[in-house]
Order: sequence, then C-alpha cells, then structure tokens
Amino acid sequence: MKHLCPICENKAAVPDFLCPECRKKVEAYNRLPKCSVCGQPKTTEPVCTTCKEQKPQFSLALSCYHYDKEFRSALLDYKFHGQFYKAKGFSMLLLEKLKKSGLEIDCITAVPVGPKTYLKYGYNAPLELALCMKRMLKLSCYPNLLRKKWFVKRQSTLPAHKRAKNVKGSFFLNRFYKKKIKGKQILLLDDVFTTGATVSECSRILKQNGASKVYVLTLLGNASGE
Ligand SMILES: [Zn+2]
Ligand SMILES: [Zn+2]
Repeated sequence: MKHLCPICENKAAVPDFLCPECRKKVEAYNRLPKCSVCGQPKTTEPVCTTCKEQKPQFSLALSCYHYDKEFRSALLDYKFHGQFYKAKGFSMLLLEKLKKSGLEIDCITAVPVGPKTYLKYGYNAPLELALCMKRMLKLSCYPNLLRKKWFVKRQSTLPAHKRAKNVKGSFFLNRFYKKKIKGKQILLLDDVFTTGATVSECSRILKQNGASKVYVLTLLGNASGE
C-alpha cells in the first residue's frame, strides 16, 4: 500500500508518515507557546485564563494540531466515512506527541462514545486510536474503563458555556477495572479538545476511583486564533 499522509492524502515523505507540507505545519504548531495545563496555544501566559478560572481535573492535555478545516475533514473521513486506514497515521502522530512530552504513563483508555452513537456507527474512533497506540507502546489499554450513560446530549451540539453542565455526571467507571487503575498514571485519548469539559469530567471520575494522574491527548485542539 502506498504511504499516504493521513491529513491531506498526498504522498508521505517515507520514513515520515506525513507529507512535507503537513510536517511543516505540525512542527510550526509544536513551536507555539501553549498553556501548561490545557496545552492550547491561546495564551502567552504559562497558564491560560480558562484554566486559571476553573482548574481542569487532568494534569495536562496535549493536542497535535489546530482544529483546522483540512485536518477536521480528514478526521471526519476517518470517523464517519470508513477511511479506517487513517488510524495508523493518526496514532503515529499521537505517539510522536506523547514521546516528545516525556510523560510517563501506565495505561491507556479513551473517552467513550454514547450507546446511541455506537449503535449508529458501530465504532468508537478515539478507542481505535488508543488500541493502535497500545500496540505500539506495549502498554495496557482498558477499552471500557469509562462508560457513558444513555440520554446525554452530544457536546458538539451545545454552545461552550453549556458543555460543562451537560457532561457532569454523564460517565461512570466500569467496576471491573477499579483495582487496575489504583495509583496509575492514565493516558486518556480523544479526537478533539474543545472546551476540555468532557476530558475533565472523565479525569474526575478516574481520579475519584484511585488513578493518581490523568493526562489527555487529542488529535485536534482549539481552532487557531481562539
Ligand atoms: Zn499532508
Ligand atoms: Zn489552559
């Protein structure tokens, strides 16, 4: 199979998994100053105002790139239009970000999708990425560590100020894993970091159940200029 850049579908500059253009963009993003908590490049201060106002429940979040049009449509093709082969390139991008950060983690999990979403698409995109990363990192991955309740409105359908309230109490821990996560540093994967309300709520549940730290890793972060 040809090596295609998962973002733009141009030929990847093997051994790189991205094409030269996307590589340049990702490196430029990496150089931007970012908040030391949510990892978003919206600040020149060490901690952004959003994180100062309400401290997130995770220790640190990292995103691989801005929420931009091209990357967003690549992500949608992967999530909803059957381009599953992108999982490999995307997870390599996530892995690269994790390695550069130097974070030490014990296990991986993903933000769960709601039962309705799962029934509709038969697929949890963040989880597939977590499983790819697990294979590359040789770490434990707990696929159903967190579960989402029925009848929770999808965050993407709500404005920013309503998201924290909507997501509160919408996840619960799979009791089977309670002993396994005690004292562990967990990597929580999601596809997009928007307000951080979802990953913060997931982190709260994990810590409440004994996890020592939760780090968040997403493919996309906030849109540039936000
Ligand atoms: Zn590209
Ligand atoms: Zn922040």
